[in-house]
Amino acid sequence: MRKNFADSGAVKKTPVRRGMLIVISGPSGTGKGTLCDRLIKTDENITFSVSATTRRPRETEKDGVHYHFLTNDQFDKLLQEDNFLEYAVVHDHRYGTPKKPVLEALEQGKDILLDIDTQGALSVMEQIKDCVSIFILPPTFSSLRSRLHTRNTDDEAEIRKRLNNARDEIEKYVHYDYALINDELESAFQRLESIIASERIRTLRFHPEIPE
Ligand code: ADP
Ligand code: 5GP
Repeated sequence: MRKNFADSGAVKKTPVRRGMLIVISGPSGTGKGTLCDRLIKTDENITFSVSATTRRPRETEKDGVHYHFLTNDQFDKLLQEDNFLEYAVVHDHRYGTPKKPVLEALEQGKDILLDIDTQGALSVMEQIKDCVSIFILPPTFSSLRSRLHTRNTDDEAEIRKRLNNARDEIEKYVHYDYALINDELESAFQRLESIIASERIRTLRFHPEIPE
């Protein structure tokens, strides 16, 4: 009788799987943070990459959890010491992805999630070719405006700036593997989980050890 693939000895042992890097971008207010928080809570194999930023914390944000909140001097020092995988100026502030935790997670076979802007994402895509990139779109432009108001974390001038930048950001969706419209939260989250489940079993991430 023909043995199935797993019994055949073609796969000697479970291979050490390299972690998967997931990059999420989208205009401010589209729901990236909401989707990312939920993903981290429901999928224990995904770690969130905590970025450094020079912007001030919002009332609900904790240092070291949502961001590492830094002064300009502290950010400069990390930059000079080559500690960032990428960094960019977004909405007039600097944001950067610490390099070491990302590379360590990938080595340890953990998936790591980056919520970063399009400039940073394009740089990461160049450096880590097998990353999965997902662009989160709002259902309409007016829903973006109302979500920014409902979130109630930014003043009018800041909201205006973020909406102005949104148009340029949205144009960049073509560079991403997936475009996910965050219309109804529950269904958008399910689609996000499906993307990740499918990406995990892509042949390019499968490294069986085939005996001689
Ligand atoms: P981003 O991280 O992209 O700036 P947030 O996750 O902070 O966006 O979401 C902005 C606001 O929109 C929040 O108040 C959040 O609760 C709300 N929100 C997120 N997803 C949805 C959705 N699918 N429908 C309605 N409101 C949403
Ligand atoms: P916010 O101020 O709303 O938290 O984030 C503003 C923008 O900065 C979002 O588009 C977010 O994805 C992006 N961002 C957050 N961290 C990083 C980072 O480390 N690098 C880059 N390039 N962008 C980031």
